Amino acid sequence: MNQIQNIKILMVTLGCAKNTVESEYIEGYLKNKNLKIISEPQDADVIIVNTCGFIEIAKQEAIDTILELTEYKNNGRCKALIAAGCLAQRYPDELLKEMPEIDAVVGILKADVFDVVIKEVLNGKRIKNVDSNPSTISPSEFRNINKNPSAYLQISDGCNNFCSFCAIPFIRGRYRSKSIESLVNEAETLVKNGVKEICLIGQDITKYGIDLNNGSNLISLLNSLLKIPKIEWIRLLYLQPEGISDELIQSITDNEKICNYLDIPFQHASPKILKMMKRWGTGKDYLALISKLRKKIPDLAIRTSIIVGFPGETEGDFKELVSFIKEAEFDYAGIFQYSKEEDTAAALYPNHTTAKLKQYRYDQIRAIADSISFKINESLINKTFNVLIEKVSCEGGFDCEGRIFRQAPEVDGSVLIKSFKDKSLKIGNFVKIKIKSTENYDFLGEINA
Ligand code: SF4
Repeated sequence: MNQIQNIKILMVTLGCAKNTVESEYIEGYLKNKNLKIISEPQDADVIIVNTCGFIEIAKQEAIDTILELTEYKNNGRCKALIAAGCLAQRYPDELLKEMPEIDAVVGILKADVFDVVIKEVLNGKRIKNVDSNPSTISPSEFRNINKNPSAYLQISDGCNNFCSFCAIPFIRGRYRSKSIESLVNEAETLVKNGVKEICLIGQDITKYGIDLNNGSNLISLLNSLLKIPKIEWIRLLYLQPEGISDELIQSITDNEKICNYLDIPFQHASPKILKMMKRWGTGKDYLALISKLRKKIPDLAIRTSIIVGFPGETEGDFKELVSFIKEAEFDYAGIFQYSKEEDTAAALYPNHTTAKLKQYRYDQIRAIADSISFKINESLINKTFNVLIEKVSCEGGFDCEGRIFRQAPEVDGSVLIKSFKDKSLKIGNFVKIKIKSTENYDFLGEINA
């Protein structure tokens, strides 16, 4: 098959926000080559699964998803199945050997090879296109921007921190920042397409610019993005605690457009465990940072990530973690069970925790974190917030849905609004909403004219 124009492509995206962006680059590149991006598997000629592969549970989800989609190859019009992303980057040979259903494995940061790969697999070849030492930045010239008022802006890739439990540095390589110029261009294109909220992402955005050696850093990037008129919200995600400087805090308090919201993965609180995780700080250091942040930014919302069941975690370490969670009172917390990942230092540590104990500790922390979040959410009843409208005419009798500055996309719930057909409620509009009640992580709100 010479011509691949009009070939119908389905992109299935798993994993984190960085994969969402990577998928949009691949879709954008293929659209520019006149291939069609479609949304139904039964209509696809080629299915690309952009996988996640950094912990066991994510790997299993990727394999299950690929096997499910094989159905469309066996009984449908689908002619080729391509595995892309982190699982393909980490296990290319194993995937090709153990999954005959897969026609190609394409590693990360390769949006601009998919037209050639698709042509070759449709000509019956089986392809492996993986760079074992990724050192480039994703080709972001073309991005398929969907009509959401919120978008992620990936400012860097890779990581140099080598936390002992984490496989990401082995999958995505060393820390690499995109230039401020390319990021401003990308942000301007997003804004031209109706985006109002830009969420900055990377493995650790506080380290932005360290590799550029031209004075660029997160503050200078923020100052450039703040000059783009139509950006209403800039949200900072994935900040390692040691990188939160007074200058950054000042920049947040000085600029209304920077949301009073920070996603800071603390992971644990026991000094012994944090040392074994090869992470900066102790629970005490973290509480000091949190109290400084809350003094400077009183209505700050903090999301964190916590790992339970790390090798060697004693009952005492776990108790320290529980009291940290209770004292820190995070607005939102992602809780993960430790996953033994080959190539990582912690995989070789002694005293790995049993699955049963990991689940028990997960349930404990999850319950505590939920009760704290729900209590905080209830304290916001009768308060009025600016809501970014993201959906109109929703299910469940609500007219539309949106988020307040305290809610990051996809992870922190939303605001469900009864509007009585108020015309101001259009996707991308900001509307004053009074919180009337809460339902777990969601708020129920009413127009507050
Ligand atoms: S900061 Fe640590 S946990 Fe995060 S990507 Fe880097 S090595 Fe992994």
